Amino acid sequence: MWCKRALSGGDMCYKHQFYGIASHRCVQMTPTLRCNQRCRFCWRSFEHEVVEEEECPPETILAGMHKLQKKALAGYNAVLDNTVTEERWREALEPRHVAISLSGEPTLYSQLPDLIDLFKRNGYTTFLVSNGTNPEMLARCHPYQMYVSLDAPDAATYHDICRPLGDYWERIKESLALLGSRRSVVRITLIEGLNDIAPEKYAGLLQDSASTFVEVKGYMYLGYSRYRLKRENMPEHEQVRDFAEKIAAVCDYRVVDENRLSRVVCLGRVT
Ligand code: SF4
Repeated sequence: MWCKRALSGGDMCYKHQFYGIASHRCVQMTPTLRCNQRCRFCWRSFEHEVVEEEECPPETILAGMHKLQKKALAGYNAVLDNTVTEERWREALEPRHVAISLSGEPTLYSQLPDLIDLFKRNGYTTFLVSNGTNPEMLARCHPYQMYVSLDAPDAATYHDICRPLGDYWERIKESLALLGSRRSVVRITLIEGLNDIAPEKYAGLLQDSASTFVEVKGYMYLGYSRYRLKRENMPEHEQVRDFAEKIAAVCDYRVVDENRLSRVVCLGRVT
């Protein structure tokens, strides 16, 4: 949706507003469809799991990404669609950013550090989005910006919401501890009635992480999550902002930006 709007000269997604990423030049991809969690809010299906038989080397992924992005954009060709500007169409054919996230946990791909380095050598900036369960792999990765999800203020809530295949709570804390030395974001997906509790506990975990930014983002009732949650679990933007402010009140983060349409509030570290 954001890619299409950007191609027509319209608004871009909140990642443009917060971090300057142009939606029509951003490729969203995942190097694996496997995941070691079963988050209730996940848009993907666990019910129809894809069985991967082999991993592709980074070079194959890069080549395939070029081809598939072109194919994905084909219907927006400026010649066929007069809402698309010629300049943005030409820019879109030369993507500059890769968001490594989508469907699956990227740290389960064994060649992730090499893949990120290959993207970098080819002139791409990268966002790596991880559930934080694999700190050893994260320590070896050097994306432009590293995201770790924090979807609960304590271990019991984490197990209830993310339903991990092992006990990974301590590992997530290890991943958070890596963030202070990098350009980084902690992502909190806020689900009304499930994890919108104990802002002071989130604040303590964020304070220890020393990440550059925190995104508090409202859960969206989409995809397969609709079989696990209700529409009422989707907080309004005001509730997201209110919770973000409660966190900020008890730690060294302050609200620096927000996007009402995406129901997301960005906190920045002040000291
Ligand atoms: S960690 Fe991400 S991909 Fe895995 S189940 Fe949770 S939301 Fe889905």
